[in-house]
Amino acid sequence: MDKRDIKNFTLEEIKKVVIEIGEPGYRAGQIFLWLYKRVVCDFQEMSNLSQAFRSGLEQDYYISELSLSGKLSSSDGTEKFLFNLGDGNFIETVLICSRDRKTVCLSTQVGCKFGCVFCASGHGGFIRDLSPSEIINQILFLKDKLKHKITNYVFMGMGEPLDNCDNVLKAIMIMNSKSGLDIGARRITVSTCGIIPGIRRLTDMGLQVNLSISLHAATDNLRDILVPANRRYPLEKLVDASEYFSKKTGRILTLEYVLIKGKNDSLKDESKLESIARRLKAKVNLIPCSPVPGLGFQPPSKKDVDVFMDKLIQGRIKVTRRESKGKDIKAACGQLAGRLKQTAD
Ligand code: SAH
Repeated sequence: MDKRDIKNFTLEEIKKVVIEIGEPGYRAGQIFLWLYKRVVCDFQEMSNLSQAFRSGLEQDYYISELSLSGKLSSSDGTEKFLFNLGDGNFIETVLICSRDRKTVCLSTQVGCKFGCVFCASGHGGFIRDLSPSEIINQILFLKDKLKHKITNYVFMGMGEPLDNCDNVLKAIMIMNSKSGLDIGARRITVSTCGIIPGIRRLTDMGLQVNLSISLHAATDNLRDILVPANRRYPLEKLVDASEYFSKKTGRILTLEYVLIKGKNDSLKDESKLESIARRLKAKVNLIPCSPVPGLGFQPPSKKDVDVFMDKLIQGRIKVTRRESKGKDIKAACGQLAGRLKQTAD
């Protein structure tokens, strides 16, 4: 049997393994502490486990790490890390620093299937899902190796988290576990282009995570074009699933809305967006589109963004404007492509 990556296992799963070996279940918690608090890379360092147990684990499992192949720093303090997954694939992780927050933007897939027309991540197509360990190791690298004091965790890097639901939910369990990374669910945000079954599964996990819906258009006609996932998961059903999430978890939803000049920035668009936000009691996060070379989409003028935003505010919708960070290193929203050549130019 090939050795298995132990960081792909939740605490419950390790407990089962431990019990099968004939050790008491609480050993799983000890292993978790070694993996996520002490961050050891060798079973032999797990000094409160018997020598025989350590060697047994070593025979069947290994402890993975990500290897860094490049890092870029933006003039605004944003940093982008390129990790080599060892199979010819690369992923990017972004660290966004502001006065009182350090947010890590996690990737969940190599490439993306969903092809939102303004986003670079889907442009090279889909390659593969990330494993739970590849998601968790992005955090461990920044938190443990580089000693960053991270305050927020957002699944807004490459890929569609709810299309890799099993692995992302497992990663969230490891993140949230007291003997794992011990990250409060409220510090974790999952962002989705609207994968309805995933929204329901995330809701049913019963954790207080935040959910952002990448809406970007408030009618099916327009959303079918800008966010092609809408053809499979149309607006009315997406709004229902979002309502299910907010009612069941009590969390306030965020609607992400990338403003694209001449496409979705009219006052008519605003009024449709306003009515969805009102129905969902959601916040709106406006993101002037970051241009991706070759895709041909531009942000509206600052004045037009202000007008759109003011109109939402007049409609008593809570609204924030996100200025994408890290544009000079292609680390901004929608610019992650996970390729070495992308980071070199
Ligand atoms: N697939 C998930 C996670 C990616 S999050 C999702 O769609 O939510 C990345 C966020 O950046 C999404 O809200 C996405 O729509 C947005 N984005 C993509 N391309 C962008 C661009 N060119 N400019 C600004 N934001 C963009």
